[in-house]
Amino acid sequence: MLIDGYGRTVNYLRVSVTERCNFRCQYCMPEKPFSWVPQENLLSFEELFKFIKIAIDEGVDKIRITGGEPLLRQDLDRFVGMIHDYKPEIDLALTTNGYLLPEMAQGLRDAGLRRINVSLDSLKPAVAAQIAQKNVLGKVLEGIEKSLEVGLGVKVNMVPLEGINDSEILDVLEYARQRGIKIRFIEYMENAHANEEIRGLYGKEILQRIKERYRIRRLGREGASPSYNYEIVENGYVFGLIDPHKHDFCESCNRIRLTAEGHLIPCLYFDEAQSIAQAVREGDVEEAARILGEVLREKPKENRWSETANEGSDRAFYETGG
Ligand code: SAM
Ligand code: SF4
Repeated sequence: MLIDGYGRTVNYLRVSVTERCNFRCQYCMPEKPFSWVPQENLLSFEELFKFIKIAIDEGVDKIRITGGEPLLRQDLDRFVGMIHDYKPEIDLALTTNGYLLPEMAQGLRDAGLRRINVSLDSLKPAVAAQIAQKNVLGKVLEGIEKSLEVGLGVKVNMVPLEGINDSEILDVLEYARQRGIKIRFIEYMENAHANEEIRGLYGKEILQRIKERYRIRRLGREGASPSYNYEIVENGYVFGLIDPHKHDFCESCNRIRLTAEGHLIPCLYFDEAQSIAQAVREGDVEEAARILGEVLREKPKENRWSETANEGSDRAFYETGG
């Protein structure tokens, strides 16, 4: 079992397989970065898998593949299959912008993927295009339908932004409710890479919009996840809200992150990371396990937003995988 320096059990690994993306979301990667990580610095699936096996053997039972846009990484279904075949009981999930799902959902499901989270910030083509800076909505909606059809568990994520998509909170909620999909609203998290002009809605503002139509009841946290569940009293539908401006979920944080170039990150808002790249490239399993132990011991008690007065992290979401 993996236990960190504050006694928290860590059983959840998020693996970013690429920092690259085919969208340019205003809140994440509004412009193409000055330079991408050189291709040769990326760990191969085999190298990432060497570390993943260590993590699974030590007690990780939940893995989420993310990015950048993970579906851009070639042969992703092969990587999914490697993890699934090693331990089929692993709760294996993926976060995606959905654009390539129409072609890829079936292969991923066949390889052993169980669940996907799709970012869906708007149901209006022009607004979705304004956020992603590309005409994306048709393919994303098609991707969601295809995923449901092949039997993937689907959730959608929405980041409400003032004056851009905040008038659609109820519409996206209804879209999800009618399909039996869970929606999670995510507070916009300030970061140095986002478009400076955008402002996200705080959790209480998001709830206020929903209360204009429904009565809502706060349930509990969704396991160790940062998401709080709320139930709509009138119809029993449960949605989630992730409001990281409160860092009350840090006390039960169960996750660590691995980037495509092998940085092991103990906390999204903690910029120190250690690299396992050399260890896995040399096949030095003991060294990789030692680094994992050290990163866990150094996992901070809570995220550093309070220290930076909400300026947020310098580390890009598209590198850490959100
Ligand atoms: N490309 C995939 C996607 O968009 O779902 C996966 C990577 S993305 C970095 C993972 C999640 O982070 C998405 O749900 C996205 O909405 C969220 N995200 C990115 N930047 C964010 C920000 N500044 N604040 C809140 N959520 C953000
Ligand atoms: Fe790409 Fe996802 Fe970031 Fe949007 S949120 S730019 S889709 S990585």
